[in-house]
Amino acid sequence: MTAFPATPGDYLLVFESGAETVLTVGKLGTVTLPAGRYAYVGSAHGPGGLRARLERHLRPAKTQHWHIDALTHERRPDRVFFRADPSRGECAWVRVLLALPGATAPIRGFGSSDCRERCPAHLVRLPDEAGNWEARIRDRGMTEGGCCAA
Ligand SMILES: [Zn+2]
Repeated sequence: MTAFPATPGDYLLVFESGAETVLTVGKLGTVTLPAGRYAYVGSAHGPGGLRARLERHLRPAKTQHWHIDALTHERRPDRVFFRADPSRGECAWVRVLLALPGATAPIRGFGSSDCRERCPAHLVRLPDEAGNWEARIRDRGMTEGGCCAA
């Protein structure tokens, strides 16, 4: 596992759930995520970079500020990937994921309130079949990060 760098970049939080998850998400209201594998795409450009942001995502107790906070409050990400990059590439990652056969954006607007490229959402449901999602993101420079000791 690679430690999260304290520099800017993009990241994916991957959640794998065998059960439905029901969340109350700000203005979206009550949303239901069917069982499955989901990837949330974000970018970190504030103080502390990826490290500060990802450590926040991995902490269940926090003031809920972003849509994703409702999900990370309920569930710890199963896997975390990141790529250090000073440019904001998060929407490109959403496009990469949505191009996978069978990938969908089931909750319109989730995580994309301040998206500048009109993504349907920054939470993507990945196909149940492997769909090569991990190879696709690794090929483009994502690294799996150290985290996740409960
Ligand atoms: Zn976007």
